[in-house]
Amino acid sequence: MPELPDVEIFNRLVLHHCRGRAIAQAVVSDPGILQGISSDALEQRLKGEQIRSSARHGKHLFILLKAGALAMHFGMNGSLRFVPRGGAEPPYTRLRLDFDDGDGLAYVNPRRLGGVGICESVEGSVNELGLGPDVLDPGFDLEAFTAILAGGKRDVKAVLMDQQLMAGLGNIYSDEVLFQARLHPEVTARNLRSEAVARLFRAMRKTLNAAIEYGAGSERGVDQLPKDFLLPQRHRGGHCPRCGTGLAAGKRSGRTGYYCPHCQQK
Ligand SMILES: [Zn+2]
Repeated sequence: MPELPDVEIFNRLVLHHCRGRAIAQAVVSDPGILQGISSDALEQRLKGEQIRSSARHGKHLFILLKAGALAMHFGMNGSLRFVPRGGAEPPYTRLRLDFDDGDGLAYVNPRRLGGVGICESVEGSVNELGLGPDVLDPGFDLEAFTAILAGGKRDVKAVLMDQQLMAGLGNIYSDEVLFQARLHPEVTARNLRSEAVARLFRAMRKTLNAAIEYGAGSERGVDQLPKDFLLPQRHRGGHCPRCGTGLAAGKRSGRTGYYCPHCQQK
């Protein structure tokens, strides 16, 4: 599932390939992914627009237009692909932006979770969605992180994943940062000592930045990640990259989380 590093990679793709480009036409091939707007209205709205910039908040991406923004969420396995002139449209493309020079940008989403819509401003949309601060925002410091954990009656993994408290981490990267900080996922958040909270905060920053840098935000590019990452071992029969112990798995809300029972003791 696309989490902060994946969406940051999409964000950089837009900044690198699409900034300043004019949209000749937009083609919606699946209205099922649209949120609060019809196919016709979106196509009309985007025709002749220009991509001014791009911004990310947590797992949400905002392609900034001359007026307002195209807001995107990627659900379970959505992605954004740049399609050079003459290139084939990727399978499961639900929305395509064709630029005036023939290149394009495809919003791909096989399982049709997540979606696309228009918003007036990033700030307004973030408020409407009720998202907490982005975990990589420079303004989100140790003090702010500590205050959130101190109020957490649930286990630390649930608090890390709660997008209303802090935005960006999902099932995969909450496991990764807890592993890197050597903390058990089921420790009650507010019981963590300040030393452990500081370690977790540093691990979160370092891990997310490393994942972005290695260009492997998700399980797709796991072989690209640093050798001490848990992520490539997140499967049945996986082993701890640090000590070799078989990983333990725990289910919550239908999704499996992993940790090392030796390195991450309660
Ligand atoms: Zn271990």
